[in-house]
Amino acid sequence: MKNTQDVDDKILLIAKRIITGVSRRNGLTVVFVEEGDDLCKLNGDDTYRERCCTVGDTIWVGFYKHTPSMAIGFFHELGHVLSSKRKGFIPYDHPDYKKYAEAVAWMYGLAEASKYNILFTPESLEYAAKEYKTYYKR
Ligand SMILES: [Zn+2]
Repeated sequence: MKNTQDVDDKILLIAKRIITGVSRRNGLTVVFVEEGDDLCKLNGDDTYRERCCTVGDTIWVGFYKHTPSMAIGFFHELGHVLSSKRKGFIPYDHPDYKKYAEAVAWMYGLAEASKYNILFTPESLEYAAKEYKTYYKR
């Protein structure tokens, strides 16, 4: 009988395979950051803890306590990439540009996930809502 850690490790592996495949289909490079790896030594662990980020055609996927949070974080970043291709969709000079861009990235990301029959649980959606709310503190 497998222990819980084995199951969690397998779920993480499957999630990483799906994320890699979705990235390739969208012409993107994905980098999975591991706690304490060279990127963490360079930029600090907290840069990648429970976080994903995007620059150009690369998405960096940080390390998460819960794999579904990692997956929804990845799709959010993918949402940024996809929505940024829709020029003029959100006017850059709008005072709430950042908040709009974040909301649109979540919507695009979740819509993209649904194309792969990936439906997130209410808990994951609540995680996404909490992440979005952080933009109201800035
Ligand atoms: Zn974002």
